[in-house]
Amino acid sequence: MSDCIFCKIASKEAKSNVVYEDDTVIAFRDLDPKAPEHILIIPKKHIDSLNELDNSDKELASHILVDVIPKVARDLSIDKSGFRIVVNTGDDGGQTVNHLHFHMLGGRTMTWPPG
Ligand code: 5GP
Ligand code: ZN
Repeated sequence: MSDCIFCKIASKEAKSNVVYEDDTVIAFRDLDPKAPEHILIIPKKHIDSLNELDNSDKELASHILVDVIPKVARDLSIDKSGFRIVVNTGDDGGQTVNHLHFHMLGGRTMTWPPG
């Protein structure tokens, strides 16, 4: 999507602090971090939200969960201490950028329940 900031980050049209990248996924530091480590992991292709994932995205979704999230956690040295993955979806979920993204938060103890 031409006006999507995360598409622009994925295509390098917009700057970001990249911590991981492959053919289909890119991970970069959140502009306004909510924890000492706050990374956004996104598919490079535009998908509005979890609601729009479909059967053709199964490989991509499992790649993010099985490969990318554990690797980024290891690279940031928060795999042992722990971290939180958040996928805000839709208005009630608090989603503000309509390009699917996985927040990875770590480096401090999280509270529960979230607000
Ligand atoms: P959401 O509220 O949709 O779950 O999360 C969007 C996240 O994107 C927010 O944490 C916000 O700080 C981050 N964000 C918004 N615009 C930019 C940007 O241009 N660059 C980066 N690195 N993060 C952004
Ligand atoms: Zn996009």
